[in-house]
Amino acid sequence: MSDFQYDLIVIGGGSGGVRAARVAAKSGARVALAEQSRLGGTCVNVGCVPKKFFSYAAHFAEGFEQSRGYGFHSDNRFDWATLRDNTASEIERLNGIYRSLLDKAGVELLSGHARIEGPNEVTVDGQQVTAERILIAVGGTPRQLDFPGAEHMVSSNEMFTLATLPKRMVVYGGGYIAVEFASILNGLGVETTLVYRGELFLKGFDHELREFLRDEISGKGVKLHFNASISAIEKSEGVKHITLDDGTSIDADLVLSAVGREPNFEGLGLDNVDVALDGGGFIKVDDAYQTSTPSILALGDVINTPQLTPVAIAEAIHMVAIHFEQRTPEPINYEAVATAVFCSPNAATVGLTEEEARQRFEGLRIYVTAFRPLLHTLAQDPGRCFMKLVVDDASDKVVGVHVAGADAGELVQGLAIGVQSGITKQQYDATIGIHPTSAEEIVTLREVTRR
Ligand code: NDP
Repeated sequence: MSDFQYDLIVIGGGSGGVRAARVAAKSGARVALAEQSRLGGTCVNVGCVPKKFFSYAAHFAEGFEQSRGYGFHSDNRFDWATLRDNTASEIERLNGIYRSLLDKAGVELLSGHARIEGPNEVTVDGQQVTAERILIAVGGTPRQLDFPGAEHMVSSNEMFTLATLPKRMVVYGGGYIAVEFASILNGLGVETTLVYRGELFLKGFDHELREFLRDEISGKGVKLHFNASISAIEKSEGVKHITLDDGTSIDADLVLSAVGREPNFEGLGLDNVDVALDGGGFIKVDDAYQTSTPSILALGDVINTPQLTPVAIAEAIHMVAIHFEQRTPEPINYEAVATAVFCSPNAATVGLTEEEARQRFEGLRIYVTAFRPLLHTLAQDPGRCFMKLVVDDASDKVVGVHVAGADAGELVQGLAIGVQSGITKQQYDATIGIHPTSAEEIVTLREVTRR
């Protein structure tokens, strides 16, 4: 046993940190976890979980509309306080579950602000703690912009506890958070404008999927204002007067800034050790999640891998296998990470976009379908769904799947197993569909849309 107090001290009690601490402790290591706020990190407290509740709420609104075509008539009055407060109660319950999971695994929880003092030393609210290894799993924080009146914007952190729901809202950004919140707010009856600096939101996703989402999301009532940046915000009597650099002015009750997230290094003491960062400001790590100081490890949103909860958890399991279980698992295949954007309609994707696949393969077969799902027919809902397969012509392997439609994430999670395992289009074709579902379309795509 080493002279250190712990074999591992984890800084940050989010998805990656808690999983790393629990699994390391189960392997017999002496583990402490330092957290200055609530357990569960971004995902549980101000991210995936409360966002999904809000997204469900927005879909209820759509469902009530659709139900009229099925003979239902109800006054679907929405009460923001109920959604907000029920969400807060559930988060509190989850905070408690995280606490008891740590207790059961034998992890010591150190409540307070952790600061790295040296390669094996941390202080937690000033108290010295030593450990053979230190894991940085502090996650990220919303990026702040600097222009006149930028302080009048809120970040996604504040969206979950608003006293009242605004009537008019501007969402600034074109990534996951902006697009999800634009759909949620629109679904809850807020007059919503999304302002994005580029030509088309959701950069990095399949271009055809992005175009489809643009049309569907604007069809549902979100005003999309692309090719513009906010240059100033003035506030008078509670109203925000927003000026864009293309000369447009918009008035809103609230402006949400959703322009990316950055690692949460404030007060962490990185200056006290040699931990190299990459050009994007993320911590550089090797395949074993080791930084340039070998006793200091890092994973999750502080390293340059997809900022997704299941990725942080997978990294935690890998890190523990390597450093505490003396195993060398297969490296994580970051290319086959499935992901969903919980906008309306939901979008989900796994593997390569058509644009990426074009760079990689000589010949491609692209299969695309867009149709009105059965549910929408009686409901007189014009909303459509979209499915696309990107197939490498030479190997017949399905290298990308892109879906927009109800519960796209649920469908693509299953399809991701195939993409991860190298499934071929012929194997899709040999699969019998479930009728009548929207999902059956994915195994009945026979006509090549283009090569
Ligand atoms: P994203 O990186 O997804 O998007 C950031 C957006 O802000 C982009 O549209 C970007 O534009 C824009 N932007 C960046 N800098 C500026 C600037 N200076 N001025 C104006 N616009 C700017 O970040 P999010 O904040 O939406 O989300 C953070 C991460 O959290 C995501 O990347 C994702 O990994 C994760 N997340 C996952 C979710 C899920 O799994 N469903 C949900 C929410 C978040 P451009 O495209 O031109 O660069």
